[in-house]
Amino acid sequence: MVDTYDVVVIGGGPAGYPAALRAAQNGLKVACVDAWKNRDGSNALGGTCLNAGCIPSKALLESSELVYRAQHEFAVHGINTAGVSVDLAAMQKRRATIVRNMTAGIGSLFKAGGVTPIFATGRLLANHRVEVNADDGAKSEILARHVILASGSVPTELKSLPFDHQVILDSWDALELPAVPPKLCVIGAGVIGLELGSVWRRLGSQVVILEALDNFLAIADQQLASEAARHFKKQGLDIRLGAKVTAAKVTAGSVTVSYTDKKGEQSLLVDKVIVAVGRKPYTHNLLAADCGVALDERGFIQVDEHCHTAAENVWAVGDCVRGPMLAHKGKEEGLAVADRIAGRYAHVNYDVIPSVLYTAPEIAWVGQTEEQVKASGVDYKVGVFPFAASGRARAMEASAGFAKIIAARASDTLLGVHIVGPMAGELIAEATLAMEFQGTTEDLQRTIHAHPTLAESLHEAALAADKRAIDIMNR
Ligand code: NAD
Repeated sequence: MVDTYDVVVIGGGPAGYPAALRAAQNGLKVACVDAWKNRDGSNALGGTCLNAGCIPSKALLESSELVYRAQHEFAVHGINTAGVSVDLAAMQKRRATIVRNMTAGIGSLFKAGGVTPIFATGRLLANHRVEVNADDGAKSEILARHVILASGSVPTELKSLPFDHQVILDSWDALELPAVPPKLCVIGAGVIGLELGSVWRRLGSQVVILEALDNFLAIADQQLASEAARHFKKQGLDIRLGAKVTAAKVTAGSVTVSYTDKKGEQSLLVDKVIVAVGRKPYTHNLLAADCGVALDERGFIQVDEHCHTAAENVWAVGDCVRGPMLAHKGKEEGLAVADRIAGRYAHVNYDVIPSVLYTAPEIAWVGQTEEQVKASGVDYKVGVFPFAASGRARAMEASAGFAKIIAARASDTLLGVHIVGPMAGELIAEATLAMEFQGTTEDLQRTIHAHPTLAESLHEAALAADKRAIDIMNR
């Protein structure tokens, strides 16, 4: 007999597992099919984010930041750290334990919520049938009233530098290195390049980041990007812009990377290369030819504004569909689809999605950059508050960076908030909530912020937009 479900989710990452749990909360019979394999051959829920991305990278960013602070900042607090050393094996063990606990947690949530996990490769057939291919080669079929595709994304490979996972690394390899590479080249100064470059730099690697574009962090507000670039340079990250990689030659465990820049042909001899030039939707073997789901020209599953595909009752969410490849965007899409299937109202506000880079200082923003606002022709005002004027930031010895608020001059509505500085990724939540509520600088100005907190910097930036800041001079 064919197993039948109300909803089958293919993919148990940050878009798929919340969709499965929400569908079960909505009283539906749900299965989640996931093919993730760890390097030791074990299965795990959580997808790239929990197993090989967001969570392990944050674990290493935290550990390596503590090393950096112990070496460079503790002395100013009067703390003598002579003899501080790094036990990388212990650091990596901690990273692996955090990942294992988090992914096991999803299993427990599935059990409590009544979601059936199926560790196998799922393939969508016609008429909402899902082919389940187990590791031992066994093939079966399950039937679903609705299917949610949440198959995620994989790292983009450069033709001139195919991954060998020993010397030419993807982001997952780069998180599991057993030793600090003395010389490291990172290709791509995007989110992954900067986060992983920071980890290994802090642990002692000489890091060169090659970025093809002439602008640093072109997607970010450029005032934010140049402030961040200044700090990264101070930390010893050698970021080379306008650098186009042409070839790489691996010899006896090291690699020569060739690239061109304004000055012509260049080359670099390093121990490891991390390729971080973006990710692409993962749909390999996911769709039978007659399943009715179409891909766009870049390989994303085509969906409408409700994440519905061209096939009836087949939905797709997360990195495998258009929009930013961010776990929290995928989660919202997953929840929204699970609610729509249950006949409930759901909405994803694609205009208010926060972005965070977990570097030091952290970088976070929501809404439009000043460049985008300028190009839109809207008359706007800007308020900037430097963390150097924040008592809390000073006390934390973390006074680099600023909070910047951009608002429409006529309506006072917030258009974008950009933060580079301590805990920027946490602080941006207040701005995100304000923008979700279509808030104004006046709303932030009239909201009491506890003193002394980093969040006061948003309050002061909002006041600064009207030249009414208290803790800095208004210009
Ligand atoms: P990205 O798009 O953020 O950055 C890739 C960078 O590589 C770009 O700056 C691009 O110009 C550059 N590049 C491309 N080809 C190049 C070449 N041949 N030579 C030199 N530079 C080249 O991609 P990513 O950093 O790989 O991240 C992938 C996705 O994962 C992104 O969508 C990102 O948002 C997401 N992610 C998010 C987080 C987070 O939210 N903190 C963390 C990790 C990954």
